[in-house]
Amino acid sequence: MVRALYPGSFDPVTLGHLDLVARARRMFDSVTVAVARNSSKNPVFSVEERIELLRAELPGDVEVVGFSELVVEFAAREGYDAILRGLRNIGDFEFEYQMALTNRHLKPDIETVFVMPSHAYSYVSSSLIKDIVRFGGDVSSFVPARVAAAMRAKLEG
Ligand code: ADP
Repeated sequence: MVRALYPGSFDPVTLGHLDLVARARRMFDSVTVAVARNSSKNPVFSVEERIELLRAELPGDVEVVGFSELVVEFAAREGYDAILRGLRNIGDFEFEYQMALTNRHLKPDIETVFVMPSHAYSYVSSSLIKDIVRFGGDVSSFVPARVAAAMRAKLEG
């Protein structure tokens, strides 16, 4: 069994995140999405809301959990083999590379695996989508309908 952990903020989940999970399900025996509780970013959705939105969009065999420690510590304690991260563009690479090597130093047995999303989602980010909704724009090409509705309820006021 090769088990992957996909950690992130998911504030909120986008079609890019879902694309990545779909690809990862073909590579790993199991994929668990882990929502960070200790993110320093100023989130729009609570961790519980983010988990709920993810669960509603993901297939039943993908577990969704919250976590509040270092990703690599959580992954090691829970027995994951790999940390999954998305690489959208060269901008993601620098930070992700640094983090992957740091995590390998801390836990040499856990591999970080990078997957590229479909070209159509390579410029989609949760933060840009939040800006679009704040200004009343249409995000239906970037997030599931349920997520778009939840964002309108939060951000349009
Ligand atoms: P974080 O705060 O950890 O960056 P995000 O929710 O922004 O949390 O992203 C979680 C992971 O998903 C990261 O590896 C990120 O590169 C990846 N990701 C974000 N948006 C996309 C997308 N549109 N397509 C593919 N991967 C993505």
